Amino acid sequence: MPYCLTLLPGDGIGPEVTGAALTVLKATGVKIVWDKALAGQRAIERYADPLPPETIKLLKKNKVALKGPIGTPIAKGFGSVNVLMRKKLNLYANLRPIRSLRGIRTKYQNIDLIVVRENTESLYSGIEHEVAPGVVESIKVITEKASLRIAEFSFQYAKKEKRKKVTAIHKANIMKLSDGLFLSCAQRVAKRFPKIIYNEMIVDNACMQLVTRPQQFDILLLENLYGDIVSDLCAGLVGGLGVVPGANIGEDAAIFEAVHGSAPDIAGKGIANPIAMILTAAMMLKYLGETKRAQAIEQAVNNITGDREVLTPDLGGSSSTRQVANAVSRQVKKYL
Ligand code: NAD
Repeated sequence: MPYCLTLLPGDGIGPEVTGAALTVLKATGVKIVWDKALAGQRAIERYADPLPPETIKLLKKNKVALKGPIGTPIAKGFGSVNVLMRKKLNLYANLRPIRSLRGIRTKYQNIDLIVVRENTESLYSGIEHEVAPGVVESIKVITEKASLRIAEFSFQYAKKEKRKKVTAIHKANIMKLSDGLFLSCAQRVAKRFPKIIYNEMIVDNACMQLVTRPQQFDILLLENLYGDIVSDLCAGLVGGLGVVPGANIGEDAAIFEAVHGSAPDIAGKGIANPIAMILTAAMMLKYLGETKRAQAIEQAVNNITGDREVLTPDLGGSSSTRQVANAVSRQVKKYL
């Protein structure tokens, strides 16, 4: 039986990089029937709604989706469709593996970190209002329920993947109540996993430590906004946003999307790096239990980056999105 999954091509470079990921998925031989759904700019053009009910219905029906990035207007316009989607499907955990790829020239080699970001609350609650002219409030919501849930996810993930350490990142010296609650929940969960080392670090120090001594980290547990910022910082350690995959995971559904956004500066030029989206597709296959195919994609990507012959400009090459997708597809077949 083929898998029936939802495809959201997204905005900007979204259609280019999801197209590349589909080429590679096809090369693995996995049978997938795609329900294509609209969100973001294309949905506004068709339905005058950035997240139409039809899209939510498809996401709920198929439970697993591959998604390109969706742009959000800055300081005006509609709220983030990405955030709304995660909330509607209760995709509370954002999982972002940050791994060095062979051949990519960066300051550090052998980076292997996992960012676990709480995906439903914190300053992303979108509760903002004007108190008086010239004074606005943005409310940070932290709940015990969501904090325990994401801490539990991190430790369960650590146990399953045989990881050694979870570091909770916070600013509880200043936000004593909200970040204090997040930390106390992490501490409660940590007690139940004595074999996994647990430590804590203030977010500003964590940023400095990440760029000077990243090898000390294993799994980073962060609330929503810190997780967002630290993910991009970590992407910079391994070659940039063009190479880091990601997943939004809930109890019974998941949306797979790369860390990067719609990259309007390079959209339509055919030069977006598809590796992040291709590795995202591999994460999706793993989630579906297609481990061998997922590993074949990972090995193929490492061969391509290791050879340095077919790379997009962000990695110092001159190849196109499509050429990278085709090269990875040819390699994938060797590992199956
Ligand atoms: P961005 O990630 O789109 O781009 C940042 C920089 O990285 C740009 O220079 C871009 O060219 C480069 N880049 C990103 N992906 C790349 C790739 N695959 N290959 C090569 N270079 C790549 O971030 P931004 O410019 O801050 O945001 C643009 C839009 O994307 C905004 O509207 C934002 O809201 C949205 N966004 C969406 C998501 C999502 O859908 N999950 C995530 C982040 C940002």
